[in-house]
Amino acid sequence: MKTAFTARRLYTPVEEIQAPLLIVEDGRITDVSSRAGKTLALNVALVDFGDAVLAPGFVDIHMHGGAGLDLMRALPSELPRLGKFLTTHGVTGYFATTVAAPLDATCATLDRLANAIEAAAADTASNGDPVQARPLGIHLEGPFLSHKRRGVHPPECLVTPTIEIFDRLWQAARGHVRMLTIAPEVPGAMGVITEAARRNVCVSIGHSDADMPVAQAAVKAGARHATHTFNAMRPLDHREPGILGEVLGNDQLSADIIVDGIHVNPVVVQLFLRAKGRERAVLITDAISATGMPDGRYQLGPIEVDVKDGKCTSNGSLAGSVLTMDRAVRNVTQFSDWTLRDAVQAATLNPARAVGLSARHGVLAPGADADFTVLSPAGEVIKTIVRGQGF
Ligand SMILES: [Zn+2]
Repeated sequence: MKTAFTARRLYTPVEEIQAPLLIVEDGRITDVSSRAGKTLALNVALVDFGDAVLAPGFVDIHMHGGAGLDLMRALPSELPRLGKFLTTHGVTGYFATTVAAPLDATCATLDRLANAIEAAAADTASNGDPVQARPLGIHLEGPFLSHKRRGVHPPECLVTPTIEIFDRLWQAARGHVRMLTIAPEVPGAMGVITEAARRNVCVSIGHSDADMPVAQAAVKAGARHATHTFNAMRPLDHREPGILGEVLGNDQLSADIIVDGIHVNPVVVQLFLRAKGRERAVLITDAISATGMPDGRYQLGPIEVDVKDGKCTSNGSLAGSVLTMDRAVRNVTQFSDWTLRDAVQAATLNPARAVGLSARHGVLAPGADADFTVLSPAGEVIKTIVRGQGF
């Protein structure tokens, strides 16, 4: 069964197509083109979203939960609630992101998350389940972080990096670890970076007090990304650039940032976008369970977080966010001269490419999953389609 979708515009996201035609069959995209001069076969249903924009579904590679649900503890039966909530914000795929916690508890979490990822991958497009964003992989944020730049990760849960411990986490996750945030200056980190990169994990430097030579050595060892740039990092100094000198200056690295207007001042967001450019800037939320919920006290793994007026703190330190991807995209268009298409690319293709998923995710092209979101011209989410379902 083929379905054709059309609207005013479509972002691939690298290109913009006016009066587009997006053809979907069995949950995959089979064609993307302009509808000018085309007649549809009689057996193809046409869905017209009028003035709207068709964009790839957002891919959030750093997310801890939402809708009251914390991914460190969530049961598989609760995940659909989170998945549905995420689609209302344009997200179709995410990396379940851990925080530093006791190793046994982390391994139990990783086993549960691996089950969820495998179940989501096995799901067929037409099983009648409500449309929901899918967990695509696991992001280990910790336990290999710097004590000095740990943010709210509990100090007693930070671990000296060894390949043995990395492998224990890898086995518990049955190979679904796709991203690792690590502080390269911690003794033992370089060996883990090399090994993780060898297993095709996106190694991301962050929660780090590294100086510039150490950050450069990490890139040499296989790191290719940076985690929530500026936050939980040694600050930039004009005589001692540190890790940020490498993250902002090296074009081989992509880097992500939390554009909620709280974690990084809008002026610095603009500088970041200029430094990393339209191909390598990545938007993340770092969202916690409180996202989409009223102010109050919430859990982030073992950490208690107070949420007030959109700000998440634990003992005075920022502890994740209640940001959503659609808001991050709109914020970029407000904080900088980037167009909606530029901002969408930083929420779709750029993250998918950073973690090696861009053949099927973050892009509207033949062969990719039919995961897309329908946006108003101002970037508000109208509808989200997952594997061709949900219109
Ligand atoms: Zn985080």
